[in-house]
Amino acid sequence: MATRPRECRARVAAVRALAAEILEADLDMLEPPALAFEAGQWVSVPFGPKIVRAYSIASSPRAPARITLCADVAPGGIGSRWFHALAPGAEVGFKGPLGGFTLARDETRRLLFVAEEIGIVPVRSILANLYAVSGTREATLVYWARDPSWLVYGGELAALTRRPSGLTYRPVVREAPAGWDGERGDVAAVVDRVVDDVAGVVAYVAGGGGTIDRVRQVLMAKGMERKAVKWEKFW
Ligand SMILES: Cc1cc2nc3c(=O)[nH]c(=O)nc-3n(C[C@H](O)[C@H](O)[C@H](O)COP(=O)(O)OP(=O)(O)OC[C@H]3O[C@@H](n4cnc5c(N)ncnc54)[C@H](O)[C@@H]3O)c2cc1C
Repeated sequence: MATRPRECRARVAAVRALAAEILEADLDMLEPPALAFEAGQWVSVPFGPKIVRAYSIASSPRAPARITLCADVAPGGIGSRWFHALAPGAEVGFKGPLGGFTLARDETRRLLFVAEEIGIVPVRSILANLYAVSGTREATLVYWARDPSWLVYGGELAALTRRPSGLTYRPVVREAPAGWDGERGDVAAVVDRVVDDVAGVVAYVAGGGGTIDRVRQVLMAKGMERKAVKWEKFW
């Protein structure tokens, strides 16, 4: 059941750098004391009349009293500067939860997730929720980044494949260091290579608009219906 968005307040509990320009912040909810949300939803941070920035919730809805946001601060605009300045103890305000990039509880189709860099954030929440308490479900994740240091949730995603979760994890980098044993190159080309049968598949694609378009084209060329591709455009 979708929760109506509302004005919220939270206190920053911790901030961590996951990579040179990727920060994760834990927020303890104050008002409401627990935020009911669906995995894949986001919050809207206000910066003035009609100026907001969206941040997807990285954590699982199973922990509603402390939510985690994760941002790529490289863009350097008002949202990145706000995120960069978050410090433990600070109080923040936002509106949420918002958005429909969510997995319906009765979804039975085969799951394909495609994330471009920081686009992993809502997918991480969906997968954390899906595989909580050793659940199993067939799903494929193609996670692209410029180099391995930008695959910020790569370690925990790979760990999910080491137990019988049903997750097939395909990390892809543009620049592969020596010893890299994942995929390399373009994300749409990898989707083209690893997905051969689109019958009964629903795809979740998050990242930049260019990647979303190219991945959608690849999947539709294989016979997928346009509406079977859900997307979250970050930039
Ligand atoms: C539904 C939704 C959920 C989002 N969730 C997240 C999230 O969880 N984490 C997160 O970091 N961002 C997320 N974003 C993007 C975020 O809202 C901001 O756009 C981002 O933080 C940049 O804001 P800014 O003010 O620093 O830069 P701006 O001044 O707004 O942007 C500068 C330029 O950078 C581009 N840009 C923005 N983000 C990126 C990027 N990651 N890579 C390349 N170019 C980019 C913008 O399109 C713009 O051209 C989300 C966006 C949407 C719409």
